[in-house]
Amino acid sequence: MENDKPSGLIMIFGATGDLANRKLFPSIYRLFQKGKLNKFAVVGVARRPLTNEQFQENVKESLSDIAGGQDHAEEFASHFYYHSHDVTSSESYIQLKDIAGKLDAQYGLLGNRIFYLAMAPEFFGTIAEQIKAQGLSDTAGYKRLVIEKPFGHSFESAKELNEKIRTAFSEEEIYRIDHYLGKEMVQNIEVIRFSNAIFEPLWNSRYISNIQVTSSETLGVEERGRYYENSGALRDMVQNHLLQMVALLAMEPPIRLTDDEVRSEKVRALRSLRPVAKDEVKNYFVRGQYGPGSAGGKELPAYRDEHNVDSVSNTETFVAGKLLIDNFRWAGVPFYIRTGKRLEAKSTAIVVQFKDIPMNLYYGAEQVLNPNLLVIHIQPDEGITLHLNAKKAGKDIETTPITLTVSNNSIDRINTPEAYEKLLFDSMRGDATNFTHWDEVALSWKFVDSISEAWETEKDSSFPNYPSGSKGPECASELLKKDGHFWWPIEKLETGG
Ligand code: NAD
Repeated sequence: MENDKPSGLIMIFGATGDLANRKLFPSIYRLFQKGKLNKFAVVGVARRPLTNEQFQENVKESLSDIAGGQDHAEEFASHFYYHSHDVTSSESYIQLKDIAGKLDAQYGLLGNRIFYLAMAPEFFGTIAEQIKAQGLSDTAGYKRLVIEKPFGHSFESAKELNEKIRTAFSEEEIYRIDHYLGKEMVQNIEVIRFSNAIFEPLWNSRYISNIQVTSSETLGVEERGRYYENSGALRDMVQNHLLQMVALLAMEPPIRLTDDEVRSEKVRALRSLRPVAKDEVKNYFVRGQYGPGSAGGKELPAYRDEHNVDSVSNTETFVAGKLLIDNFRWAGVPFYIRTGKRLEAKSTAIVVQFKDIPMNLYYGAEQVLNPNLLVIHIQPDEGITLHLNAKKAGKDIETTPITLTVSNNSIDRINTPEAYEKLLFDSMRGDATNFTHWDEVALSWKFVDSISEAWETEKDSSFPNYPSGSKGPECASELLKKDGHFWWPIEKLETGG
């Protein structure tokens, strides 16, 4: 890894967009505020004509919600420059090269360049090719491409995109963002597993009954109907974020914590995923689509009535699935995943359910023991809860469930860096651990492709099958019931309760 206080020119393609304004400018600001950057400048690139001054005003505005966001905002914004640019025109890249060269010399950036593509994916290939063709990547320092999801739409389209960007950047220079990997508690999975003697020996099929990964949203599709219609929850969430969390939960301990070692263990975990044949999909995966409903006294529309959505759409807004990992550690342990929009709660959490003890000495009318659970709360709560059984106070021997909780919300939430802040910093330092390698992307797409192909050929006549603001479709509960399991209600497992 390079020095801990990196320097470089960050070129943001799509600098007038939502991602740049909501996430990227505030993240760079926090790095600046904390003194984590040595020398830096930012060139924003987008179609709209703007002067540097107007662009700097936008940047300052994007900081308005940050605590202390006005401190040195003027000085911070002075590092930002704008170039109005159509990414499909090669002439524009020649001007951009000239700007980059000047800023390099002015700020002493050693020729280090981050190309951040905060734009629609159909432009990724063209931009990478133009960066190479017009010599923007001929630089004395590092050159890295940071690229947003979605990375393709299927294995074939991802491969095609990868081949295009590989003409300009080597695999080591490509930083594929999965912002879940920047989240504090997702990064904590490895630490919880590999630094605690009470967990690692139990982390296998002998002691774990099943693992449940849930990512639920209360929001609907909002303004993204056009994108979502071609994606659905499977491609939007499962192929990337959920499979990444499964890989971190399932992988073997790496021999050391370098990016190569961690990634190769994740790749091995993904290689062990049992593929789901097209005609077997219904036994392992179920889907849902939200209908009308309400939340907080507000009426909510059906997915099919959202802007830019087909009135007979077959797109899933909810997915639940059962994954099996065919290796020594995990044989027979189901990993259940679920994700959906317009559910009753916003929450991402992992529940590790341990097997029951071999004999319950405390059976009786009031004496049912709960299984031990390790809950990793990822968002909005951040923390860990361990669910145990203990003696109820009093003279009789009666059991009662108790919980041990560590909650980041009360300890250091304020200091928890945003995922994008960490990931941007890592990309400038050359630490690729929390980015997805092509091998991971390829394996995830291959796994997901057979499911999406089955769903595309067979319309779901039950859609819409869950009301907005509900727990999701009944078929998700049925999926676990067949195995004698049930979904742990996340809202009851929050760190506070
Ligand atoms: P957006 O539509 O708000 O912004 C797109 C940007 O691209 C704008 O700055 C626009 O001017 C620019 N642009 C479009 N066509 C152009 C052209 N021909 N030449 C030059 N500039 C052009 O999109 P967004 O929400 O910021 O998302 C950008 C990318 O990030 C997408 O791939 C999206 O899937 C991904 N993403 C966004 C978020 C988010 O929170 N917004 C989260 C995860 C991933």
